[in-house]
Amino acid sequence: MHSVRTDTAPAGPATSRGVSHVSRLVTPVHLAVALAVMLALIGPAQPPRALATEQPPAASYRLDAAVDVAAGTVDTTEVVRLRNVGGTPLPSIVFRVGPNGGGSCTLRRAAVEGQDVTAQLDGSVLELPLARPLAPAAATELTLTFTIAPPSTPGRLAATRRGMALGNWFPILAVHRGDWDRRQYVDTGDAFFSQVADFDLTLTTSTAAEVVATGQRADADGRKVHYVASNVRDLAVAIAPDYTMRTATAGDTTIIVAASSRDRSAAYLGRATEFIRWLGDKLGPYPYPTLVVADVDLPASYGGMEYPALVMMAGRIPLPSQIEGSFLDELLLHEIAHQWFYALVGNDEIDDPWLDEAFATYAIYAYYRDARPDLAPGAYREWIAGGASGDVAASVTDFPSDGPYINVVYRRGAQFLDGLQNQLGDTAFWALVRDHVATNRDRVATPRAFLDRAQASSTTPLNPLISQYFSYRAFQSPETRLWKLDAPAGPWSGSAHLAVSADFPVARVQVWLDQRRLADGPANDLTLDLTDVEPGEYVLLVQLSGQDEAIYERSRRIEVIR
Ligand SMILES: [Zn+2]
Repeated sequence: MHSVRTDTAPAGPATSRGVSHVSRLVTPVHLAVALAVMLALIGPAQPPRALATEQPPAASYRLDAAVDVAAGTVDTTEVVRLRNVGGTPLPSIVFRVGPNGGGSCTLRRAAVEGQDVTAQLDGSVLELPLARPLAPAAATELTLTFTIAPPSTPGRLAATRRGMALGNWFPILAVHRGDWDRRQYVDTGDAFFSQVADFDLTLTTSTAAEVVATGQRADADGRKVHYVASNVRDLAVAIAPDYTMRTATAGDTTIIVAASSRDRSAAYLGRATEFIRWLGDKLGPYPYPTLVVADVDLPASYGGMEYPALVMMAGRIPLPSQIEGSFLDELLLHEIAHQWFYALVGNDEIDDPWLDEAFATYAIYAYYRDARPDLAPGAYREWIAGGASGDVAASVTDFPSDGPYINVVYRRGAQFLDGLQNQLGDTAFWALVRDHVATNRDRVATPRAFLDRAQASSTTPLNPLISQYFSYRAFQSPETRLWKLDAPAGPWSGSAHLAVSADFPVARVQVWLDQRRLADGPANDLTLDLTDVEPGEYVLLVQLSGQDEAIYERSRRIEVIR
């Protein structure tokens, strides 16, 4: 999401809950570091490299939805095929139920392999027991039948006079990383976290309506539409009786605009084409075959909301006479930037929201500075200036509401990126961000690994800058903490030998390939057994815990072959 037009003054002080982070923020200390030694130990940033094999996502969803437009309800049968790629048996399968936060999801049936099971619903966490644990590499099929009645008030999940917004509308697999993610949904920010999957949606409306959704429209027959989407984290739908539709092609992307007026559709189409071009230039190509921009009945204060290959815009925000430099324009750019940060490069939006929001916010200013420098100061004031003191590393659960959350995570987060660009220079900064995107595409990025990557691309120590904004302990020391990871460069097969050395005492070393933990212990000389790891691409994440409990991370894209 979200606009900066929150219910609190953008530059106002944080609430008491926001302020509590300040004590965790260590004062920056400026000290020189032996750079030659540091760079020798860290080594150059790994250049992005096109790898050969992409394994299919672990999950695929088939959604068959019947929308009763007049009643404002959706009856859905959801069939999920899941392969266990985590390396350990799964005794149960956990979903997160977004709509249940509003009490609007009624689960009618849950089944595993066609056999009814008694699902446990605890708040927004839905758990299906398995008769036998799902063995590593085995697959199972889960069926959920449910009805949702979206609230009749404006929102990303809503059924109002203007139409329906279906965001976070079906139970989605929780992330399994060591254990299932059973954190409850909170209403601050966008407390969503999922892995990429394949989707197949068939949706029928009770009366004639325009429907747009994440993915490519495979076919349509009267009131029935069929969409398919590959390698996306979620699937959203927008429905209205009276959209003005327009499409255009930008490079390999089809842009589809579903707007509430002709003028808006023209403005969205022109600006979305421009933003895809500029962002693609900076970050790597736009990742999906389609991009939908849809007006929905979001509160004007809410701005917009990002979903993979689909952005929702608040139709209530008036179209200005001059789109460039307007709030609506900046908002559209922010939401489209989320296609790289959140959609392509995933992050834990509950614990690490800055990893998408700060980037999507900073993109607005960076664009204007490039394309219309005369409008850049206005964009900076609107989106970045001010903010509250506080820890950019905070979780959404640390804030009572969106106002203080945005002041810290968006504004101060973007201020950090501005400081980073100033320190690195334009070329190194964008190379760093492109490298971050290429490494983590279709996977989940982590903050400390990004900061570690930033340090590796810098000729000066970054801890003085980082520690102004973040409480991550690994970056608080005046001197950069040096550690070295030796790992085979080429494709991995059979086994891989990793060696870790550090200039500080290490208590624990964990090695992850995506969500699968391959090593966990005090040893810093490791031989990883890859014999039952599926061939494909992974983000190798090496995580060290210092004896002072500081956590250090380094990531790299690797390929496993047979
Ligand atoms: Zn956002």
